[in-house]
Amino acid sequence: MNLPAANNRAASAHEVLKLVREICPPLAAERVSLPHAAGRMLREPVSAPEDQPPFARSSVDGFAVRLDDTAARFRVVDEIRAGDWKPRQLQPGEAVRIATGGALPGDGLQVVMREDAEREGEFVSFSRRDSERNIRFRGEDAHTRQILVEPGIPLRPGTLGLLASVGCTLPLVTKLPRVLHLATGNEIVPPEETPQSGQIRDSNSTLVRAFLDQWRIQPTQLRVPEDEAAARTALESSARESDLILVSGGASVGEHDFTRHLLEQIGFTIHISKTTARPGKPLIVAQHGNKVAFGLPGNPLAHFVCLNLYVRAALDAFVGRPVASAFQTGVLLTELHADGNARETFWPAQWGLRDGVATLTPLRWSSSGDLTSLASANALIRVPVSAERLERSGWVEFISTEISS
Ligand code: AMP
Ligand code: MG
Repeated sequence: MNLPAANNRAASAHEVLKLVREICPPLAAERVSLPHAAGRMLREPVSAPEDQPPFARSSVDGFAVRLDDTAARFRVVDEIRAGDWKPRQLQPGEAVRIATGGALPGDGLQVVMREDAEREGEFVSFSRRDSERNIRFRGEDAHTRQILVEPGIPLRPGTLGLLASVGCTLPLVTKLPRVLHLATGNEIVPPEETPQSGQIRDSNSTLVRAFLDQWRIQPTQLRVPEDEAAARTALESSARESDLILVSGGASVGEHDFTRHLLEQIGFTIHISKTTARPGKPLIVAQHGNKVAFGLPGNPLAHFVCLNLYVRAALDAFVGRPVASAFQTGVLLTELHADGNARETFWPAQWGLRDGVATLTPLRWSSSGDLTSLASANALIRVPVSAERLERSGWVEFISTEISS
């Protein structure tokens, strides 16, 4: 891709996304146990090691009799529970009590439901007997070596259940990126502390952790003062073990905004240092070999937007999730005053479904420092450049901030 000239020109959100997808290669594969595989991207086909089901099983609770047996009354000669293995040749006039999931004792049988049977001592007769055999035959779901799951999909609960049923207990999946997160700033204190005058609670570290948790990524998180030497020490000791580095705050061009310099010092090339989108004008995207770093503006809402737009794209690329357009369309429930802003804007909103159509309610937002809209934001509406007003009931593009598999 042609990078914005000398990385000084502001890049559009679209350009940032394109670059991010290019510089974040899918990570290597690893085998993980089923309890750790949820949400991970499968990297090899999974096939059936044997026929599914592996033997003919009764699909109801009832009595197995010969299909060709027209007797009015049957003698119950055995009982088969699920888990039993009792092959036998049934004779005319014989029946076997069988539970749901029980292995049929032989071929050419039918199972009559218990609800249609009347038991008299060791005999049984049927009030109803139709052509339904009530058997799940060997291999009727899948044959040996048949591919059950193709690679390239995220492992959902149902898929994992299927994998367990065929004994695939160590699926091959894409590794998760190792993430290092640095929250910078002299003003921030841990949220459990009471801020002194001039200080604020660090909310971004919690936001980043919860955001990454959607991919089940547990980052290494550090809080560093606005001091380049301290930040560099923190970075250098942990950067080697990381695929993705996120630095919160200090991404701007102020005297104390050192992220750009810091990343350059440890060998990163800065591809992007600002965007034409808002919130999130100062945004650094840098690369060093296979490592990618983002300098994110500290404003909590800008943070939320940059994480959901750009960092999400990086994570999806790292884990090899197919890149679909993240944007969807929906209908505005209230009008949105955009005031003709010259920059493409990602407006916090709440989305839901009404009669199968996505609906959007824009949230109150006046500055990217506003936090309160984060209480209910689960979407970002894309407001095009110079849009004055987006009308109620009009269609808009939005991105959901709830990741879906
Ligand atoms: P910066 O990007 O460092 O210039 O910060 C921009 C704004 O975001 C400032 O008002 C900071 O106080 C605020 N900010 C920076 N880091 C955090 C954080 N971790 N949690 C909450 N607010 C922050
Ligand atoms: Mg700062």
